[in-house]
Amino acid sequence: MRQVMVAGNWKMNGSSESVKVLMAGIKAGMASVTDAEVVVCPPAVYLARVSGAADGTRIKVGSQNIGDQDQGAYTGEISGGMLKDTGCEYAIIGHSERRALYGESDKLVAKRFAAARRNGIKPIFCIGESLAEREAGVTNTICARQIDAVIDLEGVEALADGVIAYEPVWAIGTGKTATPEQAQEVHAFIRGKIAALNADVAVDLRILYGGSMNPANAAELIGQPDIDGGLIGGAALKAEDFLSICKAAG
Ligand code: PEP
Repeated sequence: MRQVMVAGNWKMNGSSESVKVLMAGIKAGMASVTDAEVVVCPPAVYLARVSGAADGTRIKVGSQNIGDQDQGAYTGEISGGMLKDTGCEYAIIGHSERRALYGESDKLVAKRFAAARRNGIKPIFCIGESLAEREAGVTNTICARQIDAVIDLEGVEALADGVIAYEPVWAIGTGKTATPEQAQEVHAFIRGKIAALNADVAVDLRILYGGSMNPANAAELIGQPDIDGGLIGGAALKAEDFLSICKAAG
């Protein structure tokens, strides 16, 4: 039985004060979240503060990226060991903004995935097609290519150590959500592709949907057979909305 998961990607938003208020709001509403595993992914500079606030609660903490190396002359990178040290259990890897705006290749994303595993951090491994790719009918090919980069480096069993987040790029931050049918179709493809290599990994693997999920559409999306939760951007910045999604996920 796959436990539903809702992860909030706060992206580059917040301040010491707003992070404190947001965490207080989420904590205050957690009693009504019965089923979902709840994860928050603040900007790196607030990880320690958020981990402290999450201490003793069911809220788990994740980073928005992870260094592909473990130590040394890699200016600007943060290693898995450091993230672990600040209380991270998860790390978002291969988010489309990292791929598109900062040139992260499939190969680099796979190396970050490997670094997370090496350091006992669970990857939230993001994949998804652009609008042009969807219109060209190559959604499945793109998702398969992104997944294969990790499988080639780490083996299919490695996927069992994390979750996949299917995030169609055209739906991220745009207010254009994939329909439940569109999302389910890709999720089923992803699970089927992995099942062809290892049925046990596929059946247990959580595949989250991400892309303009909000309190109004979460229940129907997460109600699809192969959608096991959500990776939430904009709606994760308001405690009330984030909690509504967490509850809908039940
Ligand atoms: C995201 O950035 O992962 C995301 C899903 O954003 P939004 O919910 O704002 O579309």
